[in-house]
Amino acid sequence: MSALFSFHGGLKTTRHKTESNQQPILVNPLPPQLTVPLRQHIGAIAKPLVQVGDRVLKGQMIAQADGYISAAVHAPSSGVVTAMELRPVPHPSGLSDECIVIETDGEERWIERQPLDYRQLHPSEVRGALRSAGVVGLGGAVFPSAVKLNLEGQGGQLDTLILNGAECEPWISCDDRIMRERADEIVAGLHIMVHLLQPREVLIGIEDDKVEAIAAMREACAGTNYQVRAIPTLYPSGSVKQLIKLLTGKEIPVDGLPADIGVQCFNVATAQTVHRAIDLGEPVLSRVVTVTGHVARPANVEVLLGTPFSALIAFCGGYRDGVERLIMGGPMMGFALYDDEVPVTKATNCILAAGAGIGELTPEQPQMPCIRCGACVEACPANLLPQQLYWHARAKEFDKAQDYHLFSCIECGCCSYVCPSHIPLVQFYRYAKNEIWAQEKEKQKAELARQRHQARLDRLEREQKERDAKLRQKAPRQAASTAVTPEADKLPIEAAVARAKPHRIAAPADASPASVAADDDRSEPNS
Ligand code: SF4
Ligand code: SF4
Repeated sequence: MSALFSFHGGLKTTRHKTESNQQPILVNPLPPQLTVPLRQHIGAIAKPLVQVGDRVLKGQMIAQADGYISAAVHAPSSGVVTAMELRPVPHPSGLSDECIVIETDGEERWIERQPLDYRQLHPSEVRGALRSAGVVGLGGAVFPSAVKLNLEGQGGQLDTLILNGAECEPWISCDDRIMRERADEIVAGLHIMVHLLQPREVLIGIEDDKVEAIAAMREACAGTNYQVRAIPTLYPSGSVKQLIKLLTGKEIPVDGLPADIGVQCFNVATAQTVHRAIDLGEPVLSRVVTVTGHVARPANVEVLLGTPFSALIAFCGGYRDGVERLIMGGPMMGFALYDDEVPVTKATNCILAAGAGIGELTPEQPQMPCIRCGACVEACPANLLPQQLYWHARAKEFDKAQDYHLFSCIECGCCSYVCPSHIPLVQFYRYAKNEIWAQEKEKQKAELARQRHQARLDRLEREQKERDAKLRQKAPRQAASTAVTPEADKLPIEAAVARAKPHRIAAPADASPASVAADDDRSEPNS
């Protein structure tokens, strides 16, 4: 077995897994209403396929992937579409987003499920099926899996396929329970990923305090060449860069992707959904969520997407005293929510009812000046200089913050956690990133406006030139028809002479020149 490597920094956090991982995964009852956001993934929002009033079946696609980086959305249960509108969704911004609301009918009537034999299909067909099934990364990143399972244009064969079972956030335990209870399904999904990526090796990284999960995964992998590796329980070992470093010793270059160094990494729950999508023909309709903190009965619960957080908390016995805020995700990398009526989405791995010492990293303390102690530098797993980033972010010197690799910051919170001056460092980095993105957007908008204005000027100029050219073409014809030339002047005279000629031809053959002249004289007064 190969040796493990290490990464710089990291933290030993107080673990709170046993609060929720001591019982099997429960199943949340069907709620009367499901609010299904169309944007539950990274990339373009899905395009609706239904209208208000439509009856839908469980598993029916209600919005299709729109573009390469996108994912389909399905009805989590049978019922009627009652609304399609903006509703609050779980997002740090607190903003609303497009949702399809389904009144469930309690019948759970399925679409016809069509399992596929992936070995008989071209890889692109398997990827297409995963896209249509709405499979995305369930570790929280929600990046469409079909894109990560396509190496075309990325330099050929993969060295290492990594399955991430680290789950390093101190309160989250859903992946732990999935590995203990559904290891066979995870490995079945892994077979499909291996079929698509043909990696040289397959490594499964699990923190060494998850003893049962490690045993279950080793048993499920028996007879394969997949290697289950126990990694140190050290935050943030579940972060992609750190896990890759731990297992392979490789480092992802700044601004690079795992595929750039021949590695691809997936969450264990994602592998399970890959299996269900292909082997069972079931799209992603639910996920396992850790509900913990100040709730009466913390647990891991399988819940339909679109279920309100409030229903899930009620299922876990409701709030206990002392709740100050809800956090989606863990206390280290999660974000606070504005209310508990928002729906569960594919990104919801944990709901933490925080407050009164639960879910707090450190007790709230007044912020003091930086004393340049360097503790944050020691703790940073990304090898950054957090205090420099802080200075530049605070001074709005965003260019300089970028020079110090602001965008390599994974927002793990290790620096804030160890800072003796209690400076909320990560908040400064998030602020700086948001400002830079906003400025970038403004620049793009201005550039777009400039291009549109230029295009309009070009069009007006072109149209003017076309009009001028047409006028020039018309002008000679008009001139020919209206101009007064000596030749044109002669025409009426010649016509008159021509009209007069028949009379002369009809004149008597013996007419003398004198009589012709007399005729000419007579004709003049009557002409
Ligand atoms: S840990 Fe805090 S006080 Fe120490 S250098 Fe970093 S920011 Fe400054
Ligand atoms: S939040 Fe960013 S700067 Fe702070 S320790 Fe993590 S990676 Fe380093």
